[in-house]
Amino acid sequence: MGRVSDKVALVTGAASGLGEAIARLLAREGARVIIADIAQAQGEQVVDAIRAQGGEAVYQSLDVASAADWETAMALAVARYGRLNVLVNNAGIAPSGSMEMSFELWRKVMGINLDGVFLGTRAAIRTMQATGACGSIINISSIMAMVGQPTTAAYSASKGGVRSLTKAAAMHCAAEKLPIRVNSVHPGTCLTPLVQAYYDSQPPELLRAQIGRHPIGHLGEPDDIAYGVLYLASDESKFVLGSELVIDGGLLASDGFA
Ligand code: NAD
Repeated sequence: MGRVSDKVALVTGAASGLGEAIARLLAREGARVIIADIAQAQGEQVVDAIRAQGGEAVYQSLDVASAADWETAMALAVARYGRLNVLVNNAGIAPSGSMEMSFELWRKVMGINLDGVFLGTRAAIRTMQATGACGSIINISSIMAMVGQPTTAAYSASKGGVRSLTKAAAMHCAAEKLPIRVNSVHPGTCLTPLVQAYYDSQPPELLRAQIGRHPIGHLGEPDDIAYGVLYLASDESKFVLGSELVIDGGLLASDGFA
């Protein structure tokens, strides 16, 4: 038996990076997975890869910043699988931006990273409630929710918002006596396309310095994060509510940001 057998999971941003690793691992552990992303061709490749290994997956076009897209995605989950048990709000962007950044870029980051998590969490709670499903909502925040760097003004603010929203959503579910848990995950640096794009736009010594800040001596791999998500998605974490799981090679525990 897989650790999430018979659960129906939707992973946003599942066409690439951490989301792809999360979707593949959930599928390997028995979940039926909706690959939700704006990158259709890449998303369909992930579906093909999961099916080739005997798993069940489907692609759904979803812009997390669009409330209408969330309605469509929830309708697909119910029509195809009858319910939704797991939502992983993973899609995010991380453009470099200091306190001199444009308001337009600030709004774009907030729209995807924070509005997207609000819309997704709200839609999933409604769907889980309507179908009587037990649920787990996992919000991918960042260690940048707890600290800031000169180039992460909007990113840190958006991820800090995700961290706090997670706790408010968890308390909402508890107050309403809904069998839905909401938790956040805070990855350290993993070399995904998003992170590569960020460091490509910076002087090369910045990446070397970032590796050096991780006390464990190296950056993370997408599966390091995916295994934490798998735990929160499974019933093994049935007593875990409103918590934050830091997976960062010791970065936050160190004086690496000093
Ligand atoms: P990535 O760029 O490799 O993948 C992000 C995916 O999200 C892509 O498939 C992209 O198409 C999709 N996406 C972007 N905008 C979208 C939208 N509006 N609607 C739907 N999908 C959209 O990024 P990643 O490194 O895998 O990051 C995934 C998440 O993890 C992000 O929220 C990021 O902030 C967070 N995170 C990553 C790291 C890291 O080191 N990689 C560290 C901390 C937090």
